[in-house]
Amino acid sequence: MTLKLYNTLTRKKEVFEPQDASNVRMYVCGPTVYDYAHIGNARPVIVFDVLFRLLRHLYGEDHVTYARNITDVDDKIIARAADEDRAISDLTEETTRQFHDDIRALGVLMPEDVNTPGATPSFIEPKATEHIPQMIAMIECLIASGHAYEAEGHVLFDVTSKDDYGKLARRSLDEMEAGARVEVAPYKKGQMDFVLWKPSLAKQPGWESPWGRGRPGWHIECSAMSEAHLGESFDIHGGGIDLLFPHHENEVAQSECAHGGKPFARYWLHNGFLQVEGEKMSKSLGNFVTVRELLDKGWPGEVIRFAMLKTHYRQPINWTQKGLMDAALELQTFANWTSDEDDEPTSDEPASSIVAALSDDLNTPLAVAELHKLVKTFSPGHSDEVKQKGIEQLRNSLRLIGLGELDGYDANKIASTITYGRDGPQIDEARVGQLIAERTAARKTKDFKKSDEIRDQLAEMGIALKDGPDGTTWEVAR
Ligand code: AMP
Ligand code: ZN
Repeated sequence: MTLKLYNTLTRKKEVFEPQDASNVRMYVCGPTVYDYAHIGNARPVIVFDVLFRLLRHLYGEDHVTYARNITDVDDKIIARAADEDRAISDLTEETTRQFHDDIRALGVLMPEDVNTPGATPSFIEPKATEHIPQMIAMIECLIASGHAYEAEGHVLFDVTSKDDYGKLARRSLDEMEAGARVEVAPYKKGQMDFVLWKPSLAKQPGWESPWGRGRPGWHIECSAMSEAHLGESFDIHGGGIDLLFPHHENEVAQSECAHGGKPFARYWLHNGFLQVEGEKMSKSLGNFVTVRELLDKGWPGEVIRFAMLKTHYRQPINWTQKGLMDAALELQTFANWTSDEDDEPTSDEPASSIVAALSDDLNTPLAVAELHKLVKTFSPGHSDEVKQKGIEQLRNSLRLIGLGELDGYDANKIASTITYGRDGPQIDEARVGQLIAERTAARKTKDFKKSDEIRDQLAEMGIALKDGPDGTTWEVAR
C-alpha cells in the first residue's frame, strides 16, 4: 500500500519514501512538563500515535523508530517551580508521570508496550536534561563552522549564515523582522538570531560549558535529541502547527548547519489547532480543558481519542461537549460488535479499506466512515461465517487506530455519569427496558395515549426514546 503524507516543507501531498525501509524514523516534539496536559497537547500525541501504528503496520513492527521527547528544562518550568517553591526535578518528574497516566488512558502506545528487552528500542522518550553534552557538542560545531557566535555568556545562531533560513515556514528574513515584536537584546548581531545557550543564575538549573554555567535554548534540545536517536537525516518530523515558526525552522537551521548541509527531516507533518467551544483555549477565558479533567468527569479515554480522530489531523478542531457525546454514542455502534470475544481470531489483518484511508495522509474521518461501511457488510441478515470474519476485521481495524479495547463499553452509562455525575442517580436499565416493552405493546394495540404517557414518564427519568425500523432505542437526554 502506498503511503501519502502532506509535507509542510513542499506544501504538497507526497508519496512517502523512507530513507531506509528497514528503519523508518520519526521524531515528534513532546510536552514541556510543568502542568497537566490540556486537550490541545493531546492532539499531536494521538495523531502521531496513529501514524506510528500505521508505519508499524506497513513496514513491520521491527522497522520503525519513534522518538517523542520530554522538554524538562525550560524557563516556564523554572518559573513554575519558583512559584510553587519546589525543586525543578520534583515538578518535572511529577508532571511527566501525570502526562504518562493521561496519555495511557487515551490509548497511546508507550515505550514499554513496543520495546523488546535486550533489543534496540523502537520507541524512545528522550529527556532534554539527559542530552546536555550532545547539545554542547552541536553548539561548538556551529561556532566552529561560523554559524553561531558567543556574546555575554550567550551563544546565538546567526540566521544570516544560512542562505535558505525561512524555507520551512516560507518567510523571508525581512518579513520575519517586520513581524517580530520582540525587544532585541543588545548582544544580538541580528534581530532574528536565536539563543542556543544562555547563562544561568546560581539558583537556576545550569551545566558547565565552554561559555560558562548555563542552559540550552529550547530549539537546540530537539536538534540534539533527534540526532542522538535518529541520526543526522531522518524521515518524519511532527508537531503542532504552532511550532512551525520559529521552533521547527530553527531546528532545521541548527541541524543542517551542524551536519554540513545534509537535509534534516524529509517530511514535516503538522497537526492543526484545537479550540474549545469555538474559542481559543486560555486560562483567562476559563475554557482551559485538561485531559485529566475530562477523564475525572467520566469521559473514557476511548471517547476522547475517537472524538479527536473524527477530524482530519490538519484541520482545526472545535472541541465541544456535544462533539464528545456524539462520539460516545457513535462508538457504541462498533462496541456492540466487538465487546464479546467469542471464537479464536484467525487473522490480525485490518480491513484494507481502513488501511487505504489512513495511508491517504492519515485520513481518519474517512477511516471512520469505512468502519461504518464495514459494519454494514455483516450486520443483520448475513451468515455466521461472514459475521465472524467481519467482526474480526472490525476489531483489527479499530486496534490499528488505537481503539482495540472496547470491552464493556456502554454509552448509556457514560451519558448518565456525565449528566448526573458519578454519584448522581444512575439509570435503572431494567426498568427502562420494561417501560419500553410496555410502550411497544401499547403502540401495537394503537393505545397512543398510554404510549405517550410512558414516553413522558421516561423523559422525566432523563431518558430520550428513538423509534427506528429495528425498534425503539434509548439514550440519556441531554
Ligand atoms: P507545548 O507543551 O506547549 O510545547 O506543546 C506540546 C505540543 O502540543 C506541541 O506539539 C504543540 O504544537 C501542541 N499544541 C499545543 N496547544 C495546542 C492546541 N491548542 N491544539 C493543537 N495542538 C496544540
Ligand atoms: Zn521540538
